[in-house]
Amino acid sequence: MEGNDCTGSDGNIPNGIVYLVGGGPGDPGLLTLRGRDCLCKANVVVFDRLTNNLLLDFAPQARLIDVGKSPDHHPVPQECINEILVKEARQGRIVVRLKGGDPFVFGRGGEEAQALVAAGIPFEIVPGVTSAIAVPAYAGIPVTHRGIASSVAFVTGHAAGPDPINLNWTALAQGVDTLVFLMGVHQLPFIVSSLISAGRSIDTPVAVIEQGTLPGQKVVTGTLADILTRADQIQAPAIIIVGEVVSLHPVLNWFNAEAVLA
Ligand code: SAH
Repeated sequence: MEGNDCTGSDGNIPNGIVYLVGGGPGDPGLLTLRGRDCLCKANVVVFDRLTNNLLLDFAPQARLIDVGKSPDHHPVPQECINEILVKEARQGRIVVRLKGGDPFVFGRGGEEAQALVAAGIPFEIVPGVTSAIAVPAYAGIPVTHRGIASSVAFVTGHAAGPDPINLNWTALAQGVDTLVFLMGVHQLPFIVSSLISAGRSIDTPVAVIEQGTLPGQKVVTGTLADILTRADQIQAPAIIIVGEVVSLHPVLNWFNAEAVLA
């Protein structure tokens, strides 16, 4: 039937579609059902080092493109990832762009979606369980808690350029109860000193959580006064959580009883 095979009625290959899928924070059980459905029907899966490779088992039929590392061992630049998504979809393929956590939380998913809009490629966003909430949860730290924290901010510790991150430290230190820093491990000294200078009490509890939701999860707790020495062995990827809610960790810690409590 005309137009009902792999080519459009004008003879061109019709656009495929790109699903920007949040893969969750690490534990494969935290992938959404919708995310799994997209993986099951994908022709191509574009993934990187921030997603758990076990999720790829849901797409045995798909061609896998690893954009976490290029042949020179550097991550594939964002423009090239955008081009891959557009090119594959233009071949009429179902493309899953699998991303860690949620695609729109510090995941550059917004930029990928903009590139798809510019190229006229249909797309859907499949939200994921963000590490910003799930990693504290697996450490028994609720990001809000009645009577303790009624506001939370997700903050990047990673500056786009060579200068330190440009944030409104006074607003963060004095106006938000719980602060969750992503991509902040290497900036921990700067984050701690900025919060103290901006007026946050040095007694404020802090947790640093490495490999959250995974078997290797490590949790280190302290305060703004001593977290730097306590967390000096922590490596990326890790979440830094600052606020009184961290004091619930010893009570609610349900996962990984072997957690490192320095
Ligand atoms: N879109 C992702 C975040 C991407 S930025 C999301 O919604 O979760 C990458 C940062 O996320 C890492 O530097 C780290 O701060 C955090 N992160 C992701 N997975 C993590 C994990 N399993 N444990 C601790 N931090 C994690």
